[in-house]
Amino acid sequence: MRKVWFVGAGPGDPELITVKGQRLLQRAGAILYAGSLVSEACTNWAPPSCEVADSKGMTLAEITAWLISRAKRHDTVIRLQTGDPSLYGALIEMVQPLDAAGIASEVVPGVSSAFAAAAAACESLTLPEVTQTVILTRVAGRTPMPAGESLPELAAHKSTLCLFLSITLLSKVCASLLEAGWQPNDPVLVVQKASWPNEEKVVRGTIATIRDICRAEKIASQAMIIVSPALGAREWERLSRSKLYDAAFTHRFRRGGR
Ligand code: SAH
Repeated sequence: MRKVWFVGAGPGDPELITVKGQRLLQRAGAILYAGSLVSEACTNWAPPSCEVADSKGMTLAEITAWLISRAKRHDTVIRLQTGDPSLYGALIEMVQPLDAAGIASEVVPGVSSAFAAAAAACESLTLPEVTQTVILTRVAGRTPMPAGESLPELAAHKSTLCLFLSITLLSKVCASLLEAGWQPNDPVLVVQKASWPNEEKVVRGTIATIRDICRAEKIASQAMIIVSPALGAREWERLSRSKLYDAAFTHRFRRGGR
């Protein structure tokens, strides 16, 4: 059936697309990819006859017009999105015009950059008795934050925070964390171009130092900021073990008490 697929390309490494996403690319008639953040290498799986375009210079209206016109000519049209399409990807703004035009669409999830950043630094975003919650958010830029979602409010939970689209506002991020009660020497992780072969940069600092470190490393775009009480746990001597692997804990796949 004729369809526009919104496919999560993953965070950058072409190998981090899903098998399903890759298979769809192999039979695509037309692909529109977000060139600023999606590796062009992903489009190498497309058949030679496939029309491939970069949406970098397009407005949202031009993107939807492109998808609608190609859906009239091809069975499989792909909008290749960075990371997972459900996060900061203007998914609904693109799906609504397709619905209005009577064109079917479907979403294929992808590996978000939040997870690629955690992987790059071998960090766990949750840790037993430290934090069991991850907040995926951003600070207000041109897009304002809805009521109750300002960073000082969210940071007050002291859970893990993954901050998208915020690297140019790092001073504001740090001021908000301090306002929420975090301490200047609390750790901060910044990963630029997580998973991109030969381009990934992982830097660690504290709320007090991270801004200067990022400036020195010239990190001003495509970066994930992670703040968490679990950061650096790999080096901790005393770790409260996850209950799931506790020898006394019984669950569906293993009887405890051994
Ligand atoms: N849907 C995407 C996010 C799009 S918003 C996802 O799930 O990852 C774009 C923001 O994502 C960037 O400003 C940056 O904060 C983050 N980002 C995207 N790719 C990244 C990468 N490879 N490494 C670090 N951050 C990345």
